[in-house]
Amino acid sequence: MVAAGDGIGPEVVEATLYAMDGLGLDLELYIEPVGMAGVQERGAPITDETVEIARDMDAILFGAVEKPPPDVDYRSPLLTLRKELELYANVRPARPLVPTHSRLGPVVPGGPVPQLDVVIVRENTEGLYVRREHVIEDGVMAERVITRKASERVHRFAFEWARAHGRTKVTCVHKANLLRRSDGLFLETFEEVARDIAADIEWSDMHVDAMAAAMVTDPGSQDVLVTPNLYGDILSDLAAGLCGGLGLAPSGSYGEDGALFEPVHGSAPDIAGQGIADPVACMLSGVMMLDHLGHPEAARRLEGAVLDALASGVSTPDLGGEHGTLGFAEEVRERL
Ligand code: ATP
Repeated sequence: MVAAGDGIGPEVVEATLYAMDGLGLDLELYIEPVGMAGVQERGAPITDETVEIARDMDAILFGAVEKPPPDVDYRSPLLTLRKELELYANVRPARPLVPTHSRLGPVVPGGPVPQLDVVIVRENTEGLYVRREHVIEDGVMAERVITRKASERVHRFAFEWARAHGRTKVTCVHKANLLRRSDGLFLETFEEVARDIAADIEWSDMHVDAMAAAMVTDPGSQDVLVTPNLYGDILSDLAAGLCGGLGLAPSGSYGEDGALFEPVHGSAPDIAGQGIADPVACMLSGVMMLDHLGHPEAARRLEGAVLDALASGVSTPDLGGEHGTLGFAEEVRERL
């Protein structure tokens, strides 16, 4: 299913589908309007019918959705799909695609630029994202939920993902020194799962603040990170920023009833409609989707074409280039 959404969503999705079309795969596409596009066409940001269609799909390619105007009764398409399909593991790989776009400088002046190459596996269903806030005397209290079931399954996923992708180390990121019970449970289940299934993989844990520093000062030291919801959100934007910006960061959400692939960025209303959005994040989400669909060769071809275009200096204005969204897609398609 293709759910392009609104803002720059339809622009980057169109560019991605155009490039992917050059692979000659026989993919059957169901196009569903979501977000404000859904409100206009179907009277709702996401209908129950769309959710049912999504359940039947092998994968969903999602663009982005705008924040709704305050007067619109709005159910978030993304949160709905995450919840209904139980998409519990959000995977966000980050590495500098082109050295010149990396914000990482040499640790020693004049020395080599260290490589950040991390995959952040973020628990996607709970933490602060249960969005339960209560007014208390003189303030507000937010609930942060960590359960054994959700923690265990995301840890298992992280180790299995690491193994399937030739990764050798998984680090649990937490703040169990402060949140001794909730993050303590997240860490405890990590250690249990690791002892159970990860004899062939190195594993350790680190406090989230120390991890943020390590990603900047010792970027080569990290591999696969597994985190509660909010830490993963923040660390993956940090990693994306270090690697060249949000326009380059892909993601995949995997779960009990499906898989959804989307760029990490949002709808970017400031540049929507101008034809200058960077489609790389969406294209690389498409690469993750092709891998998931069992087309690894096509995935490598598309990835190779995107990286080759970037390495040849082809880019959109966010990276200092002069290509438009579709112009970039054209360059990628020619390279296929
Ligand atoms: P939303 O409210 O939907 O999250 P936002 O603008 O708050 O939208 P993002 O869409 O993530 O958040 O964008 C943050 C900034 O990054 C914006 O200034 C935007 O122009 C820039 N940006 C995001 N995605 C891209 C992209 N694909 N190409 C170029 N610039 C981008």
